[in-house]
Amino acid sequence: MTKSQSLFEQAQLTIPGGVNSPVRAFKSVGGTPLFIERAKGAYLFDVDGNKYIDYVGSWGPMIAGHAHPEVIEAVKTASENGLSFGAPTEIEVTISKKICEILPSIEMLRMVSSGTEATMSAIRLARGFTGRDDIVKFEGGYHGHGDSLLVKAGSGALTFGEPNSPGVPADLAKHTLTLDYNNPQQVKDLFAKMGDKIACIIVEPVAGNMNCIPPSEGFLETLREVCDEHGSVLIFDEVMTGFRVALGGAQAHYGIKPDLTTLGKVIGGGMPAAAFGGRKDIMEKLSPLGPVYQAGTLSGNPLAMTAGLKTLEIISRDGFYPELTEKTELFVNGMLERARQSDIPLSSNQVGGMFGLFFSDEDKIENFAQVSKCNIERFNRFFHSMLDEGVNLAPSAYEAGFMSNAHTVEDINATLGAAEKVFANL
Ligand code: PMP
Repeated sequence: MTKSQSLFEQAQLTIPGGVNSPVRAFKSVGGTPLFIERAKGAYLFDVDGNKYIDYVGSWGPMIAGHAHPEVIEAVKTASENGLSFGAPTEIEVTISKKICEILPSIEMLRMVSSGTEATMSAIRLARGFTGRDDIVKFEGGYHGHGDSLLVKAGSGALTFGEPNSPGVPADLAKHTLTLDYNNPQQVKDLFAKMGDKIACIIVEPVAGNMNCIPPSEGFLETLREVCDEHGSVLIFDEVMTGFRVALGGAQAHYGIKPDLTTLGKVIGGGMPAAAFGGRKDIMEKLSPLGPVYQAGTLSGNPLAMTAGLKTLEIISRDGFYPELTEKTELFVNGMLERARQSDIPLSSNQVGGMFGLFFSDEDKIENFAQVSKCNIERFNRFFHSMLDEGVNLAPSAYEAGFMSNAHTVEDINATLGAAEKVFANL
């Protein structure tokens, strides 16, 4: 028995499913999750002494690489001054200014500790600002586990939502309307029917929780238009795409300005930090300025702010994103080529440092229905074989992959070499 297997057995005695977040349990791919001892640059090291080239990056934050020396040094220094004060600090001012500079749609922001808190708070604020209850999201979009967001479509388009987890009251879920991602006509039809009741649209501007799906042409533009026309708030959930598809996120990449933005992952550089922010007139409705309540004991935590600010400094340096994009392209194109050599149908999407691979015959994957039709069984075998070859990919066919700038061309070539071997036996 490996040490990971032994720890997983013990973990299941006191932690539901042995994990503190479900996707870590390898449920969809089967097998035992790796228990990680440490990470450095592009690599993860498990408790059994194995080394892996990592394309998960803690699900996005580690864009500069694991344990980046500048980030670690800054956090060490900050820790000497205390771990939390529950009072304002200078670094909160510095990081807020920096974020407003990087994302000009954000005039004011508030720090929180997780992406879930960011989206949950942004939705409360949009509801409070508009005085409306209904919200719109898209099938396959994940926005954390707030009650209003754990909702699937009702039967048929334009019906009220149903909870997709026990514990979410049906009375709340009915206020969440779920439409198809990349279907602008559905959005127009819904708003024509009941636009004056809709507080907000929340969207991942590049979907990253149904693998990786960029917006089709005109989709984000339509969202902007209907929100303007009907006085609804457009929320870009950039927890994943922020500082990932470009320094300024998807809003910079596609040139669409949301009213509110949620950020997470990279913003904390691997520590628990997230944020929501946007138009000043909306943000001013937040407590203590306005009536919409939101708070957090550890919000703006000095260590999380330090790791975040240092990471933002590193990724703001000249050439960071061209390099990241180039590496991601090298990886994706190399994978497609190796799959072709073995006659394995593989398709891909990529924006900046984020990518998706699909075991599918279709050239272009644009929606959740297509992702659902991919060969999941083949993905699962691919995943495990790559892991055996020392490459860590996300343990689900529905997750995006992430490049970091700690990955070298040699790392990527080694990954492609492993893939060539794996595809030949798939
Ligand atoms: N929004 C998006 C787009 C996400 O990808 C995630 C997490 N993967 C969340 C929100 C929730 O963030 P957290 O896990 O930090 O609560």
